Amino acid sequence: MKKLAPSLVFIVVAVGVAAAMSVHKLSDSQTAEKGSVGTLTNSPSSALVVVNKQRPLNPKTYAPADLKVPNIPLRSNITDEEKQVSGVITPSLEAMVAAASEQGISINLQSGYRSYAFQAKLHDEYEMQQGQAVADSQSAQAGYSEHQTGLAVDLGDVSNPSCDVRNCFATTSAGKWLTADAYKYGFILRYPLGKQSITGYTYEPWHFRYVGDKLAKSMRTNRVNTLEQYFNVQ
Ligand SMILES: [Zn+2]
Repeated sequence: MKKLAPSLVFIVVAVGVAAAMSVHKLSDSQTAEKGSVGTLTNSPSSALVVVNKQRPLNPKTYAPADLKVPNIPLRSNITDEEKQVSGVITPSLEAMVAAASEQGISINLQSGYRSYAFQAKLHDEYEMQQGQAVADSQSAQAGYSEHQTGLAVDLGDVSNPSCDVRNCFATTSAGKWLTADAYKYGFILRYPLGKQSITGYTYEPWHFRYVGDKLAKSMRTNRVNTLEQYFNVQ
C-alpha cells in the first residue's frame, strides 16, 4: 500500500470521524443524547439494516440463508414460507413469546419470512383490490419488504384472533404487552401511529422488527420511534 502523506491521513481520519458521528444524528426536534449502538448497514442479514420504500434489499431477490421455524404458536393456516424467520431472531422471538406466556398472554406468529415471489404476489393482490396508492401504503413491493429479511414478524393474540393484523390488535392483551415489553427482547414496533411520512407505512401495531437488544433499548431510552430517525436516513 502506498504511504500517505501525514496531512492526507489527517483529512481521511477527520472525514471518517465526521461521517461516523453523523450516522446517529437525529433528524427532527429530538435532542436526546444516544449511545453508540452500531452503524447503518445495507446488509440484509444484519439486524441493523434499514429497509423501506427508498431502501430496497440488496440484492432485491435476497433470501436469508438460515431460515428457521421458531418454537412459538403459529397461525393455523400459516404458509410453510411465512412460518419461518431468520435464525438471527429465533432465540429472542422464542424468549419474548415465552415471557408473555408466563403472564397468561398467548402470542402467535401471523407471518414471518416472505420471499420476493411471495411478496410480489401479495402486493399484486392488494393492488387489484385497493388500487395502487392504498396498496403501497399498506404493503411493500417485492424487494422492499422487511419480511423478506426474515427479521420482521407480524404477531397475533391467540385469545383475540378477530384483531389479527388489524389496528385493534393494539388494544388486545398481546398488543399492549408487546408495545410495553418487546424492546426488552430486541424488537421494535416498526410502523408507529402517526409516522407514515417517515416510515412510508400506515400504523401497524402487529408488525415488529428485530433490531437487537442494544438498539431497541437505545431507541426506547432516547424516545426515537423509527429506524429512519435513529439513523437519520429516508
Ligand atoms: Zn408485517
